[in-house]
Amino acid sequence: MTATSTVLVIDDSPSIRGTTRNLLLTEGDLSVLEATDGLSGFRMLVEAKPDLVLCDLEMPLADGRKFLALRRSRPDLEDVPVIMLTADNDADQKADLLDLGATDYVTKPFHARELLARVRVHLRICQLTLALRAANERLGEIADTDALTGLPNRRRFDELLIVEVARAKRYGSPLSLAMVDVDHFKGVNDRFGHDVGDTVLRALGQALGVGVRETDFAARFGGEEFAILMPHTGPVEARVAAERLRRSFHAVVHAAGNDSLSCTVSIGVAAYDASKGVDDGRTLSKAADTALYRAKSEGRDRVVVG
Ligand code: GH3
Ligand code: MG
Ligand code: MG
Ligand code: MG
Repeated sequence: MTATSTVLVIDDSPSIRGTTRNLLLTEGDLSVLEATDGLSGFRMLVEAKPDLVLCDLEMPLADGRKFLALRRSRPDLEDVPVIMLTADNDADQKADLLDLGATDYVTKPFHARELLARVRVHLRICQLTLALRAANERLGEIADTDALTGLPNRRRFDELLIVEVARAKRYGSPLSLAMVDVDHFKGVNDRFGHDVGDTVLRALGQALGVGVRETDFAARFGGEEFAILMPHTGPVEARVAAERLRRSFHAVVHAAGNDSLSCTVSIGVAAYDASKGVDDGRTLSKAADTALYRAKSEGRDRVVVG
């Protein structure tokens, strides 16, 4: 069964509304709403959100131009196509109506097949536009998401880092960054295979996703390295959070065929601190990296705050 589209017919003439309604209803998959002037038509547009509007130009009180002007005030409704029904064939008038936001026009007395064909064309364009928008949104999500863990990826992280550093700078609120790296991960791949390695990374992604506060932002930085950006969090609290993550991840047992394993992470934490020159995304990342490097060289499976 095809989905029904709703067409709003705005016309002051009961006979034209009747003719138009009957014509549209012959299509079988269209339903019809009716209004008698531009203002009540606009109200119906807002409330009933029809898929297309057929609007007369000449109407007492609020005419077709008024309707187009009202619709302009609502950008969320600009996707609904509006076909104007005009009595004369003046090209300037048609151009004016298109400039006012009309999608198309049909001259009265209208030719039944032409009107229906135009309704079809604009409904189809509208549906394609909506499908394209949904696809773009989906692509935007994919572009920001790491496929293995479902966490935001480095690209998204870099964007957010800029925003959060600017916020910390402007409001003087604390901001910490933890870099998390799996210990001896190459050995996991070598011993158990890449699939088991992937399982470990997914588990770490999950631990990061659930372990952090609502306002914290965990991302896969790349490879076996992850990052947690913690707004409104100073180094002391950030250490506590990192330590909690380190412990909880260590406790996870990963299946590897008949075997099992657990892994550890090293975590380097740094905090925004303009007095120490840690005052932008680059210096904050570098400070967290340096702390991570220390955690590695001091024996791994630990948190170091730089
Ligand atoms: P360290 O304790 O010093 O961090 O040692 P490491 O072995 O963890 O570090 P190294 O940088 O030598 O190795 C990282 C490994 O991570 C090598 C790379 O093949 C593996 N890796 C990166 N991305 C993925 C992935 O998506 N899946 C799997 N299974 N392995 C990955
Ligand atoms: Mg009229
Ligand atoms: Mg590693
Ligand atoms: Mg690494």
